[in-house]
Amino acid sequence: MNHFHYIDGELHAEDVAIARIAEAVGTPFYCYSTATLERHYAVFAGALGAAGLDATVCFACKANPNIAVIHTLARLGAGADVVSEGELRQALAAGVPPERIVFSGVGKTRAELDFAVATGILQINVESEPELRMLSEVAAARGVRMPVSIRVNPDVDAGTHAKITTGKKENKFGIEWNRIREVYNLAGSLPGLDVVGIACHIGSQLTEIEPFRQAFLRVRDLVDMLRADGVDIRRLDLGGGLGVPYDDETPPSPTAYAEIMRDTLGDLGCRVIVEPGRLLVGNAGILVSRVIHVKEGSTRTFLIVDAAMNDLMRPALYDAHHAIIPVAEPGPGTVLAAVDVVGPVCETGDTFARQRPLPPMAAGDLLAFGTAGAYGAAMSSTYNTRPLIPEVLVRGAEFKVVRARPSFEQMRALESLPDWF
Ligand SMILES: *Cc1c(COP(=O)(O)O)cnc(C)c1O
Repeated sequence: MNHFHYIDGELHAEDVAIARIAEAVGTPFYCYSTATLERHYAVFAGALGAAGLDATVCFACKANPNIAVIHTLARLGAGADVVSEGELRQALAAGVPPERIVFSGVGKTRAELDFAVATGILQINVESEPELRMLSEVAAARGVRMPVSIRVNPDVDAGTHAKITTGKKENKFGIEWNRIREVYNLAGSLPGLDVVGIACHIGSQLTEIEPFRQAFLRVRDLVDMLRADGVDIRRLDLGGGLGVPYDDETPPSPTAYAEIMRDTLGDLGCRVIVEPGRLLVGNAGILVSRVIHVKEGSTRTFLIVDAAMNDLMRPALYDAHHAIIPVAEPGPGTVLAAVDVVGPVCETGDTFARQRPLPPMAAGDLLAFGTAGAYGAAMSSTYNTRPLIPEVLVRGAEFKVVRARPSFEQMRALESLPDWF
């Protein structure tokens, strides 16, 4: 469900014509819909509430760290899951209260841990023994006991793309299953830590419910075991990962997800933390691009567009599918023809779609990539010295640039020639 639709033959975000934004800010650009963000948060948080769970929704900021996006969700009550000091500062600047922020990630530096401890966030999810020791030192030096959950690796196959599965024992994430007890033992002995819970995140873009059930059941066993060992487990951070439809997938509904959580873990008396990223923002964003040239090859037609792999990396990185739709609605009976949609970057990987059926398009026409709100702008780079592209937030009939396109001078501002030249 999203708020990008045709009105009188023209693609709109809510009540704003995409072509009007393109005229004002230039292409390519990302466009986000406030109504879609709000709806996704309400549906997700509502499903957890309806299942009777005491749940805190911490938006995984890495999916879309734009301050206006985080603020839109924070206003509705969302917390934040952050994976770096930069994201932590971004969440704070966006108005997320520290007591609703969780810090995750496999390699936090001492400086990052110290900043998080000093800020007084809700908890830090720790992924290794060296990190436990480092965090304890940092917290003790500040005279506090930092609430921690330990990220466990349940050795469950999320059934998703190999580059975004995280819960198998050969992945770098979390503590291996057979070592969990001794690691909790160690954590309990360290002076700077208050061990409050278990954290678990098995991957991203999950389209089946079963891996969640398996992981949650394993977490349940662990709660029993650790409580028997005298560890006071009172929070369960169950990660993110619920998928969204990019193509013809039908991921589990938030209600099904919440019910699995309730059925497997609901009676344990724990506060639940969830960290959805993609689910909240994926369908709330599109990437708008303009056709530069139509190039007729001997075997295929290339639509060369002004967006590239540096703007939207998912197709190159994960072979990801994004819907591609023309901004001007094709008339009834328009015949589609298969084309390759490619960007201008000097890499064969800079291909958004191969042999995609599209209506006839000409140089200057606008098109939109769907479901680009998650891991789109967030992963972009300036490869080929292409400026990062603007991000625009729509609300009803209004739109605002919430990240400006830098000038070439601004791009170069941090560089310098050594004075030996
Ligand atoms: C990436 C990540 C998330 C969010 O994943 P989505 O698939 O976007 O929901 C949540 N928690 C952790 C620890 C992550 O690494």
